[in-house]
Amino acid sequence: MSRQAFQSPPPSGEPVRMKYVIVIPDGAADAPQASLGGLTPFQAARTPALDAVAARGRVGLTNHVPDSLPPGSEVACMSLLGYDPLRFFTGRAPLEAAAKGIELAADDWAVRCNLVTITDGVMEDFTAGHVSTEEATALLAACQEGLAADFPDLAGWQFTPGVSYRNLLLYRGSAGVPAPLGSDLRATPPHDLVDQPVFDAFPRGTGSRLLTDLMASSARWLAGHPVNVARIAAGKRPATNVWLWGAGRAPRMEPFATKYAATGFGSRATMITAVDLLRGLAALAGWKRLEVAGATGYLDTDYAAKGRAAIAELAHADLVCVHVEAPDEASHEGNAGEKVRAIERIDELIVAPIAAHLATLPEWRLLVCPDHPTFLATKTHSRGAVPYVLAGSDIEGAGGTYDEVAAAAAVARDPAARIEPGWTLMERFLDRSR
Ligand SMILES: [Zn+2]
Repeated sequence: MSRQAFQSPPPSGEPVRMKYVIVIPDGAADAPQASLGGLTPFQAARTPALDAVAARGRVGLTNHVPDSLPPGSEVACMSLLGYDPLRFFTGRAPLEAAAKGIELAADDWAVRCNLVTITDGVMEDFTAGHVSTEEATALLAACQEGLAADFPDLAGWQFTPGVSYRNLLLYRGSAGVPAPLGSDLRATPPHDLVDQPVFDAFPRGTGSRLLTDLMASSARWLAGHPVNVARIAAGKRPATNVWLWGAGRAPRMEPFATKYAATGFGSRATMITAVDLLRGLAALAGWKRLEVAGATGYLDTDYAAKGRAAIAELAHADLVCVHVEAPDEASHEGNAGEKVRAIERIDELIVAPIAAHLATLPEWRLLVCPDHPTFLATKTHSRGAVPYVLAGSDIEGAGGTYDEVAAAAAVARDPAARIEPGWTLMERFLDRSR
């Protein structure tokens, strides 16, 4: 059989289904580094697979973080998945609740509840020494008892254990009862307060008084708890307080397959990630989540396993998204070498095998785009431009290489290569008529 005949639509007349793959190298975008000879990590990394994709694709810039929202994966990945964060983002905790399979009704709220170590009014550790899940569960039970004793009029509040220091406080509302929290509520993430005084970092807005009272009271509920006594005796940091932030109601995201029904997209999308925020976003978008053994969400993640899982999943899914947290983690550590290595591993073990597999299919598209920059210089997330590359069996691009500088040059040549707001990139990616 000739290659041509092999690629014809099946005789049933049913159109060949387009296969879509998205790779998210979290936080990979950056600025030129003196330690890398004036290159960005994307430029410094050896990335033959990404280069080949860029050579046949379209390279440009986008921005997934609106000015009014916090720069981070919770906002940027919502945009990358094709949902306008200005419309749909309600907070980080509701995404984490969705990741755990916790459903929030219309009157419910989820609040992120860290166990932290505050010493002499300073945020010493936003993880309470990476307290274990077992310890955290016992400490939160003490908080629940303290809440019942000290706030007998408060109904519907549940301290809900998660993993280690990452827990939730849920509010189960009832119809007709005004919610104690409001959408103007703002609270500071404890990881932004490390080594800083917490006094002027308490929440603001509707419900802030209540959250502040609970955080302050938690010091009493947790002091002298057997778990803390044992931790101090073992030379570990105690969990002195709960820190409440990231509050929100469930975002009302319509299912992805409905939202993008008018494009060439079929119906089945799968997310491969080791990060709860991405799991939650996928759940709310109606995507399947595929857990890959060895995917850690850290620098030691099993890149090859993720690449293999994505290819296997393409046999039945229309769209597969592979999210890799490692470049973001390397950035938080300020480690340029590890960041370059993470990008090289993504290229070799994820992009290369996926691109080789796609090349055997009649119709495919591939998008590579970081959610947000995470700058090595500041070790923190930032808003701002990120480079994307979009390639496909039906796309003839201008070609080029894939990095921040090449993407900026592409935009300088052709302003249409800048796609903003970032959430509209998804429609470009899916729509077969473009
Ligand atoms: Zn991120």
